[in-house]
Amino acid sequence: MLRFRDVVYRTVVALLFVAVSGAAQSDQSEPAFVADPQIAAALRQISAQRIQANIEKLVSFGTRSTISAQDAESIAAGHGIGAAREWIKSEFERYSKDCGGCLEVKTDSFTQEPAERIPKATEIINVYAVLRGTDAANAKRIVLVTGHYDSRNTDILDVKGDAPGANDDGSGTGVSLECARVLSKMKFPATIVFLTVAGEEQGLNGSNHFAKMAKEQAWKSEAVLNNDIVGGDKSAEQDHSVVRVFSEGVPAAATEQDIRRIRALGGESDSASRELARYVADVGRAYEVGVKPVLVFRLDRFLRGGDHYSFNQQGFAAVRFTEFREDFHHQHQNVRTENGIEYGDMLKFVDYDYVAHVARLNAATLASLAAAPAPPANVHVLTKDLENNTTLTWEAPPDGLAAEYEVLWRATTSPEWEHAQNVGNVTRTTLNLSKDNVIFAVRALDAEGHISLPVVPLPER
Ligand SMILES: [Zn+2]
Repeated sequence: MLRFRDVVYRTVVALLFVAVSGAAQSDQSEPAFVADPQIAAALRQISAQRIQANIEKLVSFGTRSTISAQDAESIAAGHGIGAAREWIKSEFERYSKDCGGCLEVKTDSFTQEPAERIPKATEIINVYAVLRGTDAANAKRIVLVTGHYDSRNTDILDVKGDAPGANDDGSGTGVSLECARVLSKMKFPATIVFLTVAGEEQGLNGSNHFAKMAKEQAWKSEAVLNNDIVGGDKSAEQDHSVVRVFSEGVPAAATEQDIRRIRALGGESDSASRELARYVADVGRAYEVGVKPVLVFRLDRFLRGGDHYSFNQQGFAAVRFTEFREDFHHQHQNVRTENGIEYGDMLKFVDYDYVAHVARLNAATLASLAAAPAPPANVHVLTKDLENNTTLTWEAPPDGLAAEYEVLWRATTSPEWEHAQNVGNVTRTTLNLSKDNVIFAVRALDAEGHISLPVVPLPER
């Protein structure tokens, strides 16, 4: 895997030299994204059978419509969203028991006032587990995985009819749960949050509330991984070897000033969410997860939305994982057969091995980030003088884990980072490459080679 990537980097760098005449950097080091054996071992613990059992349990609640029953009687009868939520909570608690109480199991509840798809005031409860970072300075840093546990059928206001939601989004909920079960057996300097939200189908209500809470509490969230429809629907034209990773370009939370800078300098493809997507691609190459991330450079699919957007709106980096080819007969549909076509989001269409692959990709990304230093702070490119060299400056992240830094760059027309140069334990470097011709970023590495998210420099005069 690593060798393949080196070849890719070298090839692209060779092309880059053609494009950027005379800008050759003589002392290039290899890109350093390598698999951590402990993380690789943890990924092998992720179980398609457990994921299957969890999705089957979620489907057993009949409907998980956000506006379905959640009274004590329905919970006891195992029917409706209340029963689903109580079960998810009990699962997180069980995982916590298995790791000596290492998870804090919490709820974020609020009353949603009547809205377009919410006929009467409704209590919405997000359920989550926190694997607190072991290092005081790094525990404030958060990476998060989420899926929505609510479901729907054809009529968004139907609270009684079956809405199995096996794929949408039993699969994403299954990813959050399985990541929690497996990663809770490990320790990381930074904090991992395993989230399941409700209200997605009614209007992203749960994630919206959660993301606002995170913003109000000034969470230092570095990454949100939203898994929605990662069941690998078994339609004939499905490609089970890939998963799409959607990321916004110009950030939803960009200020007027941000947008002016993005427009002037060609920053349309360098939102924090997009750097996160590229990081997922790096992780996918470094680890054997069984599925290849395919980056899609747009917020979401046409006519569709998802919980990552709630986080984007609050200024957080967030991406969406979705199977390659959706079967729309199997989403948001009453379970039925019409003219020989089966409709409904049923268990039999879910490929549990595929969900496990996606869970491994998520777990590898969460673990890589939680093990890594914080990204370098205040990264700047000096623009005081007209010159063909580029000087970059940054500050060491305050967490103390950064042992050295890499400068990344790529052609302005290239989707992914093409070259990484290790510049050692410094906070300023000058490269014989013109900032006018490439896009730069800086990332931090710890002593074991764990790599932070990259940060694209802001211009400084
Ligand atoms: Zn969904």
